[in-house]
Amino acid sequence: MTADAPVNVEESVNVIVVGGGAAGLAAAVAAEEAGLSCQLLEAQSRLGGRVRTVPLKSGGLFDEGAQMLNGDMRGLLALAGRAHLHLSPIPQTGIDLCIAGEETLRCEDLISADEVCDLLEDHVVRWDSLGEALRALRLKLQWMTTPWESIGEAGRAAKLLVQKREAPRDSLACALRALLLCEEDNALAYSLFTELFGGAPEDINAQGVRDILSRYGSEREDLEFQISGGMSRIIDGLRADLRHKPRLNTPVQRIRVTADRVEVTSGANLWSAEYVVVAVPPPTARRIVFDLDGSDELDGLLSSFTAGDMIKTLLVFDSAFWRLKGLSGHATFCDPAGLVIADASLDDGLPPRLVAFQGGPLARDWAVLPQSERQAHLLRHLRRAFGEDLPDPREIAEAVWVDHPWSGGGYNATVRVGANPDAVAQLAAWGGRVRFAGAELDDHFWGYVEGAIHSGRSAIARIARA
Ligand SMILES: Cc1cc2nc3c(=O)[nH]c(=O)nc-3n(C[C@H](O)[C@H](O)[C@H](O)COP(=O)(O)OP(=O)(O)OC[C@H]3O[C@@H](n4cnc5c(N)ncnc54)[C@H](O)[C@@H]3O)c2cc1C
Repeated sequence: MTADAPVNVEESVNVIVVGGGAAGLAAAVAAEEAGLSCQLLEAQSRLGGRVRTVPLKSGGLFDEGAQMLNGDMRGLLALAGRAHLHLSPIPQTGIDLCIAGEETLRCEDLISADEVCDLLEDHVVRWDSLGEALRALRLKLQWMTTPWESIGEAGRAAKLLVQKREAPRDSLACALRALLLCEEDNALAYSLFTELFGGAPEDINAQGVRDILSRYGSEREDLEFQISGGMSRIIDGLRADLRHKPRLNTPVQRIRVTADRVEVTSGANLWSAEYVVVAVPPPTARRIVFDLDGSDELDGLLSSFTAGDMIKTLLVFDSAFWRLKGLSGHATFCDPAGLVIADASLDDGLPPRLVAFQGGPLARDWAVLPQSERQAHLLRHLRRAFGEDLPDPREIAEAVWVDHPWSGGGYNATVRVGANPDAVAQLAAWGGRVRFAGAELDDHFWGYVEGAIHSGRSAIARIARA
């Protein structure tokens, strides 16, 4: 036995769940409900992962991670209903803004995120050859209703054909260009995807995005409600359902499949079980040593993902000044790409608030700045959107998810360029004694807490069937 070999052999169970985020907790509860003994192991000193609610100095709460849900997220709604949690509707009235350079545009005059997603789902074109480019152009021309539009589009397409291709061929940036959107629409779509995936569209796999978009199980907007009391109340509810105490501060380092069991190691402790559910984001799971048949293939799948970069900032104001100007509080910035502001006020009488999401390269750039500088930059951009008379916020709170040691980042990890575009489906379907779960693997609500819960429960349902 080597000096660092485990010395404490822990109790043997039917299922070990690695990771105590929404997916891991839902899996552990489902395992116990199915009559299986289960031990949950969590690396951090708390449960919840990318769900974390903290108090604000000025009163009220800040959801540093997940915050919002919609009316089709049945798993979350059931948990919220059972705990008698109040769902506060996200304010939706007023004009949404798009900030491009010195210009402030109305989002209603530009392409919507839904339209871009529909176009992408239909036409993720591999921009491999002139032939493909011309095919995309022909398709585009077919959609045009007037000859003038056609001439404009043809001009843009011709420019595109001679343009130096900087983005990799399988990237989302390339796919967006192939849609031949007008300049403003393209800049808006580029910024929205940078925020949504926490990465530059040049680094994100277009086919992977197409797959992800097909994994959103709703016709409704994703941001309809937030939970008064915070999303952590959902985690508290799941934890309360768990009979066997989770082990905190227990980072799993190694998972080894033997002839008839699977062994899990954390420090000097060793657990054995019939099955393991790894409910850890793929980039973080890659740090675990997997000793099993197909470990090279598994490493290939896990390394197909790139963690998102995200900073989330909450700004509490004395009044909802944006509403007085007829604005919704929602603003998307084309420059810097990846900056999106939304109204996150609750209906509980507490002071109104805006939330700012800074995703992708912007988050990475700002993460290294002193907090005061980061916030000064953000306020400068808010003034661009809402006017120089922007009142001073009563409080600013922020959560930096860039390179988070246990989540990898935020909101979620996506498939990177040059990687296997089917990595999500293949990892979710991984069989044998080690299974994978998590928001990034769900076929129902990919990338949401709802998806994490659904994925954790599905992993246990597959084990119970086996
Ligand atoms: C800023 C931000 C805003 C978001 N907003 C929303 C929103 O409004 N609505 C929404 O639905 N979703 C939102 N999301 C996404 C949502 O939070 C995640 O998709 C979801 O919480 C992921 O759950 P999970 O259980 O799959 O992973 P995680 O929550 O990341 O849980 C994984 C757990 O595994 C643990 N772990 C990691 N490595 C190990 C190891 N080796 N051993 C043991 N444990 C380990 C981690 O500590 C963590 O607790 C947001 C995310 C962020 C970051």
